Amino acid sequence: MSARDKYEIVVGLEVHAQLATESKIFSTDSAKFGNTPNTNVTVITLAHPGTLPKLNKKVVDFAIKLGLACQCHITRHNVFARKNYFYPDLPKGYQLSQDKEPVCIGGIVSVELEDGTKKEIPLHHIHMEEDAGKSIHLEKETDTLIDLNRAGVPLLEIVSDPAMRSSEEAGAFLKEIRRLVQYLEICDGNMEEGSLRCDANVSVRLKGATKLGTRVEIKNMNSIRNAQRAIEVEADRQIALLEAGETFYQETRTYNATTNKTYGMREKENLNDYRYFPEPDLSPVLISDEWLNAIKEEMPMLPKQWLEKLMQTYRLSEYDAQVLIEDKNTVQYFEQVAQYSSNYKAIANWLNRDVKSWLNEHNLSMTAFPVSPQKLAELITLIDQNQINSSTAAKQLFPLLTRQPEDTPLEIAKAHDLLQENNSDILEKIIGEIILEFPQEVERFRKGKKNLQGMFMGQIMKRSKGKADPKVAGKLLIEALKTE
Ligand code: MN
Repeated sequence: MSARDKYEIVVGLEVHAQLATESKIFSTDSAKFGNTPNTNVTVITLAHPGTLPKLNKKVVDFAIKLGLACQCHITRHNVFARKNYFYPDLPKGYQLSQDKEPVCIGGIVSVELEDGTKKEIPLHHIHMEEDAGKSIHLEKETDTLIDLNRAGVPLLEIVSDPAMRSSEEAGAFLKEIRRLVQYLEICDGNMEEGSLRCDANVSVRLKGATKLGTRVEIKNMNSIRNAQRAIEVEADRQIALLEAGETFYQETRTYNATTNKTYGMREKENLNDYRYFPEPDLSPVLISDEWLNAIKEEMPMLPKQWLEKLMQTYRLSEYDAQVLIEDKNTVQYFEQVAQYSSNYKAIANWLNRDVKSWLNEHNLSMTAFPVSPQKLAELITLIDQNQINSSTAAKQLFPLLTRQPEDTPLEIAKAHDLLQENNSDILEKIIGEIILEFPQEVERFRKGKKNLQGMFMGQIMKRSKGKADPKVAGKLLIEALKTE
């Protein structure tokens, strides 16, 4: 038994989701990502004396939406608190956050693992807060640059219980959070741009132990893959220390993806005293029944509800439906195609196979897919009507359509001579030529070597440039081989 097998990993996650609001949480400054540094900054963002913060109602709306989606208890009486600490990208000296009364309490996130195991990860709470600015360390520069555009951008911090027992469970949790915020349209879920950031609390303990081990917090991981790798190497590091009889302290570490190691950042972080106190410049936020009900009314369909709809209304298999609901834009696109074609299974196949690999190849997301739902439906109809065979449609027509999406599939197929050949005269002529060219094979076929049919069909497809309708051609071939 390896040392690893004796231990159990315990993971709790803190996920910061940057909300897709127009303006910041306490000012009218733009919350847009990627603007020229320090252009989305007014005196309110900087909390200059005499300025007052004012809460953006959308932030509370979004928090309630996520809380309802995760079955949290919604706190009706909300206060903001100052979390005091000094950091260069936080010139105010404090961050406005929530402390004692977070907007959502409890709740669950349902995840499914690779092997099909379903698990409900309990949430501790979700709170609203503002983001800090960004320190930029340029290579070969000794100075640090500060961009305060991000200061005051609204965040939801989603805090799980220490309920995950593997890096895979942590990855599944992050994927589900990303999917939920995308379905709710409250955050774009883009980890590369920092819209979703994750800290992991990792500890290990001997299997069967009930007491939690010393935990280490790993900060700011920017992809699900890196978060999983960081949890793995950190667990290995802790197990090695314990096996060597060494002790270690609770601390904050950072993960370097290049070296695949974690490094200590700030020791004795737990001694940090944030001196939380209620923000005196903001009045409490009371969430009324009317407010809560209005949000309930406008809740969009969540992945689970989509799954049911795809299986019931469109009679898709659970597998096909699961793949489609991985991405909200894809499932919405599916429904638009379904307005023009009732071959739902084919639509699912095209989206889950050809469209998906095209997007991967071009490193694009579904919103950037150039072909309209109506035109994808037309392509499927061409196949259904035997006007083009499916392999030509996938290998030739589809790539052409993505390059000239303003043309119809039929126009493109005609222009490139891709329509199926089911004209008997032309097919008979091709078959006649093949019979003359392969007399020995014809002889052997007639003597019973029936599996030569595949070779003949291959010749027909080759000579018709893949356009022969296999059904029609197959029938004509058998007749021709019999009669001579
Ligand atoms: Mn936070």
